[in-house]
Amino acid sequence: MLLQFLNGLINKLNFTSKKSIRLFKPSLGKRELKEVRKSFKDSWIGLGPKVKIFENMWSDYLGCKSAYALNSATAALHLSLSVFKFKPGKKVLVPSLTFSSTASAVLYNNLIPVFVDCDINTLSMDIDDLDRKFDEDCVAIIPVHYSGHPCKMESIVPWARSRKLKIIEDCAHTAGSIYKGKRLGLWGDIGCFSFEEKKLLTTGDGGMICSNDKDLLKNLPSMRWVGIDKDTWKSAKSYVDNVNTSMHWYYEINQLGYKYNMNDLSASLGIIQLERLNYFLKKRSQIIKRYLNKLKNCPHLIPLVPYEPDIYSYQIFGIRTKYRDELIKYLKKNRVATGCHYSPLHLQPLFKQYKSSCPNLESQADLLLTLPFHVDLSFRDIDFISKKIYKFLSTI
Ligand SMILES: *Cc1c(COP(=O)(O)O)cnc(C)c1O
Repeated sequence: MLLQFLNGLINKLNFTSKKSIRLFKPSLGKRELKEVRKSFKDSWIGLGPKVKIFENMWSDYLGCKSAYALNSATAALHLSLSVFKFKPGKKVLVPSLTFSSTASAVLYNNLIPVFVDCDINTLSMDIDDLDRKFDEDCVAIIPVHYSGHPCKMESIVPWARSRKLKIIEDCAHTAGSIYKGKRLGLWGDIGCFSFEEKKLLTTGDGGMICSNDKDLLKNLPSMRWVGIDKDTWKSAKSYVDNVNTSMHWYYEINQLGYKYNMNDLSASLGIIQLERLNYFLKKRSQIIKRYLNKLKNCPHLIPLVPYEPDIYSYQIFGIRTKYRDELIKYLKKNRVATGCHYSPLHLQPLFKQYKSSCPNLESQADLLLTLPFHVDLSFRDIDFISKKIYKFLSTI
């Protein structure tokens, strides 16, 4: 008995003294919990009034005419291509350095992804390669603001418009930073945001599809709710109201829809997370500055992208080093989690068939290393991680 107790205690002490540092972590507090509790009390946790509130808050924040909350950015990307009703077999330009959803959304729509190489400096879409890869079958382009660093939209947008391409921004790594006077997400036709748990703000899982062209998203309410355009919680109320003419039981299905809506539990988190967003972004920029400062004289590394934490907000902080794999193992031994974002899509078994050459990315892919980065990461943790990296790379 006593031995067991002591053993347990020792394990616990060992664990706490060697606390591991997580790569990503959402910042959730009492306020989120309180908002969720309200939904519990009303016993309405599906697609309800809070989703609408969150959508209104988001469109106010971003400054867009319409915004619909979905269960993921993957769903947003899927539907953002669907609204244009492109002929199957047409092509969509996507970066090779992105999360799989950007390209999967193209396949969901029976379109063909064309993988575009990255700019060596920013790691986002290379304009020269866009020129090379474009042909008459291309109908759309999906720039990704990789890590949160803005793509050169002032060049991409006119380039795409002059070729009659639709522009969908994958904003999963940004919360709508202002770039050259305009919010990311509003530069093209549609912007897609992610509230997955690793992103800048979270609803557990969730996403938002946004546009300033109201007409473009007019079918979204039914596209995200199995083809039925009806305000579910209002109609639930009218089942029992006294208005005999309300015809609440009537609905039409005019098109194939998906089950892609956000629910009120997620929206409860979103409402509070959006209220806390400014604080999150400030903390994130302080963390990046601390990292950059601590690592500035470290040999054999450069920052992942040319970070400008005073102007833009970021989802990924990382470095590039040719000793990446060794450094990963060393940091792991020191209980520091790391990651690689991303393994190039054009080399993945699923996407290899869309043969694409991306030499810039291939020269960089094995150097990319993502470091712990989240709002609750302490300066002590950053200093510890930086010291370990410095020690390892300066003695290798
Ligand atoms: C996370 C992510 C997505 C998908 O977001 P979900 O909300 O998880 O579907 C799409 N694109 C990029 C670049 C991402 O990082």
